[in-house]
Amino acid sequence: MTNNFQNLVLEEGLAIFNALNLDNESIFNKEYWFGIVMDYVMKDPSFKVDMFQFIDVLPVLTTDDQIAKHIKEYLLKKDRDLPAIISTALKAASLTITKGIAASTIRKNVTDIAQRFIAGRDINDAQKKLYEFEKQGFCFTIDLLGEKTLSNAEADLYMARYQHLIETLPQIVNPKNGDVPNVSLKVSALSCYLVTEDPLTSIVELKKRILPLLRIAKANNVFINFDVESYASHEIIYKLFSELALSEEFRSWPLLGIVVQAYLLQSRQHTNDLIDLCRKRRCPITIRLVKGAYWDYELVKAQKLGHHAPVFVDKARTDCNYEELSRLLLDNITFLRPAFGSHNIRSLAHAIAYANQKNIGHHQYEIQMLYGMAAAERKALLMRGHTVRIYVPIGEMLVGMSYLVRRLLENTSQMSFVKMSNHDQKDQRDLLKEPVASEIPPLEKVHEFINASLTDFSDKTMRDNFSNALHRVRKNFPVTVRINIDKKDISSKKTYQHLCPSDVSLTIFTTALASCDDAERAILASVNAQPALQQSSLIKRCEHLLNLAAILENDRFDIAATMCFEVGKTWAEADADVAEAIDFCRYYAQRAHIEISPRIIGNIDGEHNVLSFHGRGPTVIIAPWNFPLAILCGMSVAAYVCGNPIIMKPAETSTLMARMLYERMIKAAFISEAVQFLPGSGKEIGPYLVAHPHVATICFTGSLEVGHEIMLRANTVVPEQIQMKRVICEMGGKNAIIVDEDADLDEAVMGIIASAFGYAGQKCSAASRVIAVGSVKEQLIDRLIMATISLRQASSLAPNTFLGPVIDQKAYDRLMRVIDDLATDPSVNIIERGVHVTGGYFVPATLVFVKDMNHWIMQQELFGPIVAVYHAANLAEACRVANHTKFGLTGGFFSRSPVNIAYVRENFSVGNLYINQKCTGALVHRQPFGGFKMSGTGIKAGGPHYLLNFVDTKVVSENTMRQGFTPEVSI
Ligand code: NAD
Repeated sequence: MTNNFQNLVLEEGLAIFNALNLDNESIFNKEYWFGIVMDYVMKDPSFKVDMFQFIDVLPVLTTDDQIAKHIKEYLLKKDRDLPAIISTALKAASLTITKGIAASTIRKNVTDIAQRFIAGRDINDAQKKLYEFEKQGFCFTIDLLGEKTLSNAEADLYMARYQHLIETLPQIVNPKNGDVPNVSLKVSALSCYLVTEDPLTSIVELKKRILPLLRIAKANNVFINFDVESYASHEIIYKLFSELALSEEFRSWPLLGIVVQAYLLQSRQHTNDLIDLCRKRRCPITIRLVKGAYWDYELVKAQKLGHHAPVFVDKARTDCNYEELSRLLLDNITFLRPAFGSHNIRSLAHAIAYANQKNIGHHQYEIQMLYGMAAAERKALLMRGHTVRIYVPIGEMLVGMSYLVRRLLENTSQMSFVKMSNHDQKDQRDLLKEPVASEIPPLEKVHEFINASLTDFSDKTMRDNFSNALHRVRKNFPVTVRINIDKKDISSKKTYQHLCPSDVSLTIFTTALASCDDAERAILASVNAQPALQQSSLIKRCEHLLNLAAILENDRFDIAATMCFEVGKTWAEADADVAEAIDFCRYYAQRAHIEISPRIIGNIDGEHNVLSFHGRGPTVIIAPWNFPLAILCGMSVAAYVCGNPIIMKPAETSTLMARMLYERMIKAAFISEAVQFLPGSGKEIGPYLVAHPHVATICFTGSLEVGHEIMLRANTVVPEQIQMKRVICEMGGKNAIIVDEDADLDEAVMGIIASAFGYAGQKCSAASRVIAVGSVKEQLIDRLIMATISLRQASSLAPNTFLGPVIDQKAYDRLMRVIDDLATDPSVNIIERGVHVTGGYFVPATLVFVKDMNHWIMQQELFGPIVAVYHAANLAEACRVANHTKFGLTGGFFSRSPVNIAYVRENFSVGNLYINQKCTGALVHRQPFGGFKMSGTGIKAGGPHYLLNFVDTKVVSENTMRQGFTPEVSI
């Protein structure tokens, strides 16, 4: 922009600054105890983290003891040098005599601060403040705070609250100057079915509640603004808005608005689309331009999933974009009504100066600010003749906490304009400078290993790719799968036919089943392949793994789509399975260089010691069906890269996926004579393979029963055996999630549902026990039941399915028998049995309440969507119950008490423990996977040292001193 224009912005900004009358509403006002706390927060970042985490948990703490405990844990840390006034108050809260009074004072202080950002529990409670705003000349919009919507019942409740608000608002407020009552709709609260894989169905579901609300709003002349929250739902919300705004019913209704978030890379596209929409309907809408409130969340989430960040990484770029979009909106003022939502005086001065330059009157746009923020700024803008709308959240303090913490963070962030201007009192001219986006991209973190990205289904191209792949691969069925021994495909008289678990009318494949004679020939071929493998270099074998990773990446949609048909995985689950297989290839290739390259050890003159690693010989890979690609691939490539010929024995029900992997290994230039593909019945050829004298290693993943049998057999030395066998055994779990009294129940319920019912509970890591601690029981069970009833159970081919089928008729019959047995068992209480879907092997999601920790439902692995819920009086009992099984695979704990988290870290005996997150979905490198006790023998898959399972080590020690002449010393 020209210097001239920048001068206009500066003038406008200085004029706003001059009109500021900074009063005592700042949260940093040191006349209040909390003002002093907030001031200290700015000085000590670690105190800030602890303070905000304490505020986050405070509303669920019901007793003085609980408050005292959390104050001690979060705020009174050893070596923390707090100002006397703060430490005296906090210490009082942790002392027996004073804790009652102090706890209630602290609660009151936090409630006071919450009330600065949340106007009331409900509309009646907030009424007085709204009158005040009206009197002062402000407009406002009301937002309803609430829990995350995890069930239909919760969505209904939200809808009822909005309906009440829309109907009541016109009766209690009296907007002037042509304004009307204004409501900001939290769209995501109105359905528990927002699925990025399937925007269309998500929109249909949302409309069920939003359409009636819009009709009521229209009848009552209430303005409705569609709020946009996280990036994951943005496409759904924009599409929904556009459909409704163009519909016959609302096309000419002007009381509609929506948000554009300037921090999104796609925000220009959003703005252009909305301008087109306004042109088409010839009736304006309001576009609220904000910067966006979930910047950190979006960045961290994208990083975790391996997606490109959807937001500008450089914050100044967002400021620049905000200005560009402000101009775009004002350039199109004839079609729309802009609302500039910001507390940044530079951003607002820019929009105002641009509007002035274009002779756009103040009445043609509005400025929006959040309740509790920048009170002086909003008054100054009002005084200068602007329409200022205050965004007023109302709701219970408990559910408003995440909102409050977001606001506190915004107030205290180093980059926050409010903080720089109100707290740091930075130079006004500096604050009003034109934002300059950095030309230098921010430094990327250096990672030891980067996991393959999961497919971003919020991208339409990705959804289309997946959907096209489903259509494409469907044409291949039924596939005929053949055995391959010594590079020759062979058939067999014995076959197995597999039906699609989601649609039993569709046959997926018929496979040849190997006999013991075939097994014998496969072992012989492996023995013969050993020299070729020994001569191959480690570097070459690593290259083969990397080739395979590239091929799997290239074919990922076809492979994942086939998996949806073959084993009933949903889109996202199948996609993650392929990503994990890719990770195994890349990770083991990387680790092989580090871990099994020969190395010199010791540093003594006159002695030369070399440690080297060698393949052990024919390795039988026996895999389960539930991670049909990833587990078979991980075990196979690990053994191969270490120099072992492999015999791949997949599970019967996932033979097609195994064959697809085998073919890609050959394409990736694996030494073909060293890879035998041997589908067959485990019962029939398994024992033969395991007992064979020439087999060196058995790498098994599967059930405890089969694992034990393999162990027994492999430990029996047979004639002709020339080496001790090694068995790597990964087996089942009876995994528990413990929910503490102070847990965030939104997170806990989401975590339990994902862990227990993801892939219909058919993961070794799945949660099959939930242990509620103390007072959390009732609320946890209520929300779990509602969320379970609302699960989408359907074909795994449909994009919006959460709960698909189980693997086959046998599993279905077994699990239905379990549910029937539980129904007639007087010692348990079935608290929820979901609806029964037909057409495939669909087992209803089932919750059972049980009082006896020895009950078989608390002990046996069921491998289906059945969860036992148990109530423990306290955390120690919860851990005792959680540990009271023969398994030790995964576990979860939801809590906001640092001391309790530390206790559970120490006392929960599982291989993979997850705190405040689901207990499934381990990632290669970041969360190496595997259990102990009766869950596993080995070193964790996908982690350091796993490869050592597959090698023998040799040390060659040479004496280099001859007649006293030592090369290292004498030369
Ligand atoms: P399973 O034990 O029935 O079968 C696993 C494999 O063993 C199959 O290939 C099968 O054909 C073969 N097999 C069967 N009988 C055999 C025998 N007598 N000798 C040799 N091989 C034999 O298990 P599954 O139903 O395929 O998979 C589910 C089980 O796997 C669950 O218990 C689950 O917890 C476990 N699992 C564990 C992990 C882990 O990493 N710990 C991962 C996935 C699955």
